[in-house]
This record gives sequence, C-alpha cells and structure tokens, in this order.
Amino acid sequence: MSAERSRGRRGTGHAVVLGAGISGLCAARALSGVFDHVTLVERDSAPAGSGVRRGVPQGAHVHSLTPGGAVVLAEFFPGLVEELAAEGGTLAGALDELEIVFFGSRLRQVPLGRVLQVSRPFLEGRLRERVAALPDVTLRTGLEAVEPLADAPAGVVGVRLARPGGPDSAEPVAADLVVDAMGRAGRGAAWHRALGYPEPPVQRLHVDVAYASRRYQVAPGALGTAKGVLIGATQGRPRGAVLTQQENDAWVLSLYGFGKGHHPPTAPEEFLGFAEGLLAPDTWHALRGAEPLTGISSFAYPASLRRDFHRLRSLPEGLVSVGDAVCSLNPIYGAGMTVAALEAKALRKCLAEGTAGLPRRFYREAARAVRLPWLFSTMADRSMPQVPGTHPALAGLLARSFRATMRAAAADARVAAAVWDAVSLTGSPAGLARPQVMAAVLRHWSPRAAVPGKD
Ligand SMILES: Cc1cc2nc3c(=O)[nH]c(=O)nc-3n(C[C@H](O)[C@H](O)[C@H](O)COP(=O)(O)OP(=O)(O)OC[C@H]3O[C@@H](n4cnc5c(N)ncnc54)[C@H](O)[C@@H]3O)c2cc1C
Repeated sequence: MSAERSRGRRGTGHAVVLGAGISGLCAARALSGVFDHVTLVERDSAPAGSGVRRGVPQGAHVHSLTPGGAVVLAEFFPGLVEELAAEGGTLAGALDELEIVFFGSRLRQVPLGRVLQVSRPFLEGRLRERVAALPDVTLRTGLEAVEPLADAPAGVVGVRLARPGGPDSAEPVAADLVVDAMGRAGRGAAWHRALGYPEPPVQRLHVDVAYASRRYQVAPGALGTAKGVLIGATQGRPRGAVLTQQENDAWVLSLYGFGKGHHPPTAPEEFLGFAEGLLAPDTWHALRGAEPLTGISSFAYPASLRRDFHRLRSLPEGLVSVGDAVCSLNPIYGAGMTVAALEAKALRKCLAEGTAGLPRRFYREAARAVRLPWLFSTMADRSMPQVPGTHPALAGLLARSFRATMRAAAADARVAAAVWDAVSLTGSPAGLARPQVMAAVLRHWSPRAAVPGKD
C-alpha cells in the first residue's frame, strides 16, 4: 500500500473497482482524476455491444432512469442524455406523454420536463465506452474478485483476481482503495468478517415480486401519443405493468406481481393475458398485433435488502461497497440506478478530503442517498397485504394515505407535481408536506378506502 491513505492526500495511488454495472461505472468515473490509476474489473468477459449479459440478467427488464438520476449521470458524463437521445433513445414528456397510474388513480398529465427512456444494456454500453475512454481508467474483463488482500493495521491493501472458475491462477493486485460494486450479492460485507470486522446489520423486507418482460416492435402510432405506460399494483390487485418506448422504437413490456399467485407467466400464450385488464384495451390490442423481438425473460426478486454499513463502529480502511451491494431496492420503484449514481457522487465528495477514514465518511453520505428511496419503497410495499410483517392497522393506514395522495394527484396539478418530484428523485419530497398539497390529499381521504383490498 502506498503512504497515500495514511496521509489522506489526493492525486496518487491506485483504486480498483470490482464490477462494471451501473454503480461500478459511476464509481470508476468518480475516482478518475482522484487516483493516478483506476482499474475497473468485470467478471463477464468483454461485455461489448448492447445485449443482455450474464452478470446483469435484470437488463432484459424495464430500467427507468429517474430524471434525478439523469441529472447526476449528466454531471459525470456531460452530454450523455443528448447523446443517447441522438442515438435512438426516447425522450418522453413527463407527464404529458406518460400514463402513470399509482394506487388506482392516474397522475394528472401536467408538463414537467422530459425523461430519457433506454434499455439497461444500451445505457450501460454507452457508460462503459465513456469510462473506458478515460485516460486513467483500465477496464479488465473476464476476471473476478476472489478475496481482499489485507494488512493488519492498514486494512485492505488490494484484491486477488482470477479467471472465473480458475482461482488457482489468482493474481494479487495492490490498491489504495478497493470498491465493491459487485451488486446485491457483493462480497464486501462478507469480507468484513474474513478480515475480523463485524458485518453490517441488514434490513430485509420480503416482497416476493416476480417480473416477466418482452420486447416488441410496435407499428408507429399504434399506441397513440403515449411513450410510456406505468400501471402500479394496488392492494386489491397486486399486479403491475410497465410499457416503455426505448431506443430504436422498440418497446419493452414488463409485468410484475406480488406473491406467488400473482407472478406473471412466462409462456408466450399466457404472457399478454396477464396484462389484459391492467393495460387499457387499445394498448393491449396494439400489443397483441405487435411483433415480439425477444422471448420472455423472468426475474424473481424475493426481498429488498439494505446493509447498514454506516452503523458499524469499526470498518476496515481501504474498502467501500456501493450500489446494490449497499442497498437493493424493490425494482418496481425504479430507483436503484439513481441511488448508485448518487453514491458515486458522495464518494467523489468524500475523496475531496482524502482517503483517511474514507469508509466511515462515505457510508454516512451513502446512507443519506439511500434513506428516502428506502423509506418510500418499503412504505408502499408495507401497504400491500401480500407483504408480510406489517401490522394490518399500519398497512391499512399506509394504503389509505397512498390512495388519497394519488386521488388528489389525479385531480390537482400541484399534487401531481409534488408526487412526481418525490418519485423521480428530482426535488425534495418535502413538496408533499406543503399545506395546499396536504389539504388536497385530506379532501380525497375516503373512509371507504380504510380496508386494504377494497380498491
Ligand atoms: C428486474 C429488475 C428491474 C430493475 N429496474 C430498475 C429500474 O427501472 N430503474 C432503476 O434505476 N433500477 C432498476 N433496477 C435496479 C438496478 O438494476 C440496480 O440497482 C443497478 O443496476 C445498480 O446495480 P449495481 O451496479 O450495484 O449491481 P449490478 O447491476 O448487479 O452489477 C454488478 C456487476 O458486478 C459484476 N460482478 C459480480 N461479482 C463479481 C466479481 N466477483 N468480480 C467481478 N465482477 C463481479 C457483475 O457481473 C455485474 O456486472 C432493477 C433491478 C431488477 C432486478
């Protein structure tokens, strides 16, 4: 290890980022210019092109980038949104070109800017090109992280890398900072134990959500003026559908459901049947006549998971986890990539003060990025009768408040804007607490809606 860490100076040393998903790519960008050299290591070999790859199977499903996430990505990669749009990505007017139905009510279609809609592999491919072009970053593919290299007083001083399936050929790589961006199964937490440190406390909410998705070519105009349709689950019908126009005019339909009896089918003859009654009849018929571009991909998501590294009293120096390795949010709320980008921004901010004590300072900042998306998504999930572990009275209260808020957002442009700010992670959710917004919500608070499952 260089003396950099103990001196806490910037501009020297070597950082290794493990995993080249969205959080690894953002982290590598954040570290570029701070360290002499950054090595980005990815287990998948040569993830070139725009196909779904083995290490990121969720890439086959809708990946909405919130406007808040697009802002952070554009800070790291100037011109990215325009470039992706010019290369075929869809820019959709929010909310005027989107049909968003949450908790049974359709968000009023007030114009509030534009959102970028692209597939996950397309977005990731362009980010990877940008990161690989940075002069101080090297992308090494077809290599997996096996274990950390440790030095008792200094903490983590590198990592051992090997070809997948060939740990005997493991290669030690020295580093002043190792970033675990290996996703939800990220090994950073377990490495703590191996290094003699406690593992972070884990919060887990069992949601038992499953996805099924398929891409389509839809005849121009067949879906009217809408560029995206989002039908959220309700307490009485715990199923949802997201239909999004992406790059090159391809559309992806992702279906999901809470609980085994509501998991979407993967057989082609049954897949669209699940969406009947969820999607508007015109939309559903247009999809029946559309050409499928892919088979049907499925993904099981048993539980949201949050590792509270920020609560640990002792942390190894030289190692931080980011992205899904810290917090994996129920994907139906579409916030994971945004949180990953926000954490990379937090990492960069913390590095401005050097690397001494970095893990503690970083996890404190990362916890701020995670807090609200975790709170909102778990509150919405806890309102679902299918999600166990919440007292029925609390679940009922949450359900009533979400339904009242969405009824108000259907009728009142100010409430719609406040809801959009909160879910798109653009503005402060404090907008929901403004007196006019709260008054509108209270006007839509219906005693009939007190019982979960009645809507
Ligand atoms: C079905 C589904 C739908 C989703 N939809 C959305 C959405 O609409 N919007 C949104 O913002 N988010 C969505 N997400 C969440 C989003 O995919 C993640 O939050 C986001 O990609 C950040 O993940 P990550 O980079 O931390 O991990 P990942 O994307 O899982 O990437 C981890 C990377 O690490 C590599 N890796 C793993 N182990 C090793 C190792 N030992 N050595 C080297 N490399 C390794 C993997 O190959 C992979 O490339 C969705 C998730 C799912 C499951």
